[in-house]
Amino acid sequence: MKRELPGAARSTELHGNAPPATGIRRFGFDRIRWPEFLGITGLHLVCVFAPWTFSWSALGVAFFLYWAVCGLGISMGYHRLLTHRGFETSGVFRYVLAALGTMNFQGGPVGWVGTHRIHHRDSDTENDPHSPKHGFVWAHLLWCLAHDPLGRNRKAAAGDLGRERGMVWLDRWFWVPQAVLAAVLFLIGGLSWVVWGVAVRTVFTYHTTWLVNSASHTWGYRNFETKDDSRNNWWVALLSWGEGWHNNHHAHQRSARHGMRWYEIDATYWSLRVLEWLHVVRNIYVPGPGVLR
Ligand SMILES: [Zn+2]
Ligand SMILES: [Zn+2]
Repeated sequence: MKRELPGAARSTELHGNAPPATGIRRFGFDRIRWPEFLGITGLHLVCVFAPWTFSWSALGVAFFLYWAVCGLGISMGYHRLLTHRGFETSGVFRYVLAALGTMNFQGGPVGWVGTHRIHHRDSDTENDPHSPKHGFVWAHLLWCLAHDPLGRNRKAAAGDLGRERGMVWLDRWFWVPQAVLAAVLFLIGGLSWVVWGVAVRTVFTYHTTWLVNSASHTWGYRNFETKDDSRNNWWVALLSWGEGWHNNHHAHQRSARHGMRWYEIDATYWSLRVLEWLHVVRNIYVPGPGVLR
């Protein structure tokens, strides 16, 4: 099956427009996006209370949500489905994944997908929203606390989602599902479940997601000679439900399977196979045999 999709083409076909990234990006008081800065900083501060609110049930809730909200919401939903269309599913499950994605407080689906498609189009060039060539800390964290240095509307790169009323609503009100989740957790398990199920889990997911942008463009091995600096990084892959096989992903962006060698553990792909067996997803796209020499 051959379809040309935005953000889905092979990276080798995409480069050449923007100059290579150079220099450290400036981050200063005047550059701060205050809602993101206060939200992300605030969640980190709440984690200070984690030792005093610990319980085994809270840890279990946090781990389950780490899989459901990060693994299914970001890795499977925002990334492999909405950005790259690596598989198909029903309209209902598509919105379930998108709503789970919002619960990571990484913004709504339109902005997330737009940013990520620009990253693929202009990886490690001057236009990349988060390249370690602009500084490791910039690529990890500062890029999402600062206004876009190039003044872009990144949502424009996700025009397909921007024409979908439901996705635009989720993008506008992205904080609502996580607020409802926090209320439910409080009613069932009290403050302990909220601190661990929302703050600790969200902060942990921030860093595992950001490590894909920072560490997986810095450390690791390469199966494919892409024009960017993407790397396959095993420890990032384990932390991010398979997203750390980032060089494989940059080379074959539409592939719903990021771990391509037998030892490249890709938990999101396993989840997809189970959901296919349950008839929840279908037409999982994987490149044919022989892509690895
Ligand atoms: Zn990348
Ligand atoms: Zn991608």
